[in-house]
Amino acid sequence: MSNPGISEQISSLVTEAREAASASKSLAELEGARVRYFGKKGMFTGLLRSLGAMPQEERPAAGQSVNQGREDAEAFFAAATENLKKKEREEKLFAETIDVTEPRGNNGIGSLHPVTIALRELVDLFVGMGYETVEGPEVEYDKYNFELLNQPKNHPARDAQDTFYIEENIVLRSHTSPVQARTMLARRPPIRIISAGRVYRADEFDATHSPVFHQLEGFYVDKNVTMSDLKGTLEVFAKRLFGENTKTRFRPSFFPFTEPSAEVDLTCPTCGGKGCRLCKNTGWIEMLGSGMVNPKVLELCGIDSSVYSGFAFGIGLDRVGMLRYAVPDMRWLFEGDVRMMRQFR
Ligand SMILES: [Zn+2]
Repeated sequence: MSNPGISEQISSLVTEAREAASASKSLAELEGARVRYFGKKGMFTGLLRSLGAMPQEERPAAGQSVNQGREDAEAFFAAATENLKKKEREEKLFAETIDVTEPRGNNGIGSLHPVTIALRELVDLFVGMGYETVEGPEVEYDKYNFELLNQPKNHPARDAQDTFYIEENIVLRSHTSPVQARTMLARRPPIRIISAGRVYRADEFDATHSPVFHQLEGFYVDKNVTMSDLKGTLEVFAKRLFGENTKTRFRPSFFPFTEPSAEVDLTCPTCGGKGCRLCKNTGWIEMLGSGMVNPKVLELCGIDSSVYSGFAFGIGLDRVGMLRYAVPDMRWLFEGDVRMMRQFR
């Protein structure tokens, strides 16, 4: 090039543009610099215009040099753009990272589920009467759920419509009673236990039925246990839970694992026995099933029925929760709607 001055100007402008590109801290700042160097009124355009003062024959070579310098400088800007985009993406990801271990402020106090409240009250009541809590599996062998409780194969209660089968000999327990069988096989009387938890039946899901619900089982085996022990125990339970004026009524019934068996009604806690919609104007609410342990069940579980006797009862915890807290629809207990749960704080 015949004009050394223009060559120096180009190389210093390229260096300057390169430094401006790498000094830019954001895409916006980089865009500002881009306009300053390559815009219509930018420095490279200005340099091209200044060539007009050069001798005619030198202009083409000088013009080519300016354009080459501009291309080099633009390449730095392209690289800087990529870097900044990447950096901004990373900063965004970092800013949006959620640290699940970070302690948060108090987002409101939770509440116990009405069934949990009912369960805790009942456990407290029965433990106070000398009962011990025992747990059992929800996926249970047919043997414990049925056979040892005097329900041999082909018994109507075993109908597939009522029970969820996992395999031929494994079920989702249809009641908490298998815990009785497991306990009798594992230890000797006196046995005084309660056991609570989920049970499963292939049932409708409506205002009063659910395919999964909660039972609390009470079971007492010793010498000389009689029906009046059962009555006394359940009367204490009824009064403690629904008030001193609550009365109990025993109606003969049938269960394969108790003999004799009785359904137990309580005076309706809503109307106090006068009659209302809840109790269908009878003044009574069906509350639980109970009875004297069938001697066959004692024998099947290795306990001498000529020496020992016992009673058993099963309480629907969901029903207790519904009655106690006036929950009108059983589905509300299982849907987890916070608007209902907040009322139990
Ligand atoms: Zn009533």
